[in-house]
Amino acid sequence: MRIFDPHIHMTSRTTDDYTAMHDAGVRALVEPSFWLGQPRTSPATFLDYFDSLLGWEPFRAAQHGIAHHCALALNPKEANDPRCTPVLAELPRYLHKDRVVAVGEIGYDAMTPAEDHALAAQLQLAADHGLPALVHTPHRDKAAGVARTLDVLRESDLPPQRVVLDHLNETTVAAATDNGVWLGFSVYPDTKMDEARMVAVLREYGSAIMDRVLVNSAADWGRSDPLKTRGTGLAMLAAGFCEDDVDRVLWRNPVAFYAQSGRLELEPDKPTTDLYQGNSLLRGGS
Ligand SMILES: [Zn+2]
Repeated sequence: MRIFDPHIHMTSRTTDDYTAMHDAGVRALVEPSFWLGQPRTSPATFLDYFDSLLGWEPFRAAQHGIAHHCALALNPKEANDPRCTPVLAELPRYLHKDRVVAVGEIGYDAMTPAEDHALAAQLQLAADHGLPALVHTPHRDKAAGVARTLDVLRESDLPPQRVVLDHLNETTVAAATDNGVWLGFSVYPDTKMDEARMVAVLREYGSAIMDRVLVNSAADWGRSDPLKTRGTGLAMLAAGFCEDDVDRVLWRNPVAFYAQSGRLELEPDKPTTDLYQGNSLLRGGS
């Protein structure tokens, strides 16, 4: 089973996770920038974070045979903090870089006017830079959040086929399907979507969504599991889906979506014993 995780926060994960992911079949991923769990106090800390998503983290992933890409943005939560919003003016120069395959994650958290502004501005940045956008839907009040997000998308210059609407569930899949966007599902250990619910959605909607579904683990610093992609593939097989369906959902769909950036590099960099800015991942020499 070959797996492309289209949404995972490796900065928050360990080397053991990289090893387990490779063993499970993960060969490529996209790491969107997000909230770090603690408020940032200046745009400069975003830039350091973006640089690590473009440098250190791909280096780390390459040691495990995994191709690393990223999506960059001002996240919805910090769009409300005036100390952070100046990063919007810094984003354009980052969106030109190799391995930046989308703008994201953007969207709504509490659905404030500041979030309206950041979402519209960043959809425009995606349109201007020829990039797809990874749009998160809020965990609270999800149906209203999806409806409002779809309204903003319709008013934007970004075509729906360049948008993945993420964290969908049974209540929001129909609205997303009707609007022509890609459908993102985050599979979690014990809340929200799980493997069985994911398989039930695939069964219910079948060919209407099969070539537009992206399944991710969204693994981060919270309770989450970077192997939920494989778990979903196994659950699909157990439910009677064929291997070609699993390959489509776990590999070909995310490849097709992010290939719209023109920047996918599916061969990981060669593992190296060279140093990254003076640092090695190795312990004890060699
Ligand atoms: Zn995320």
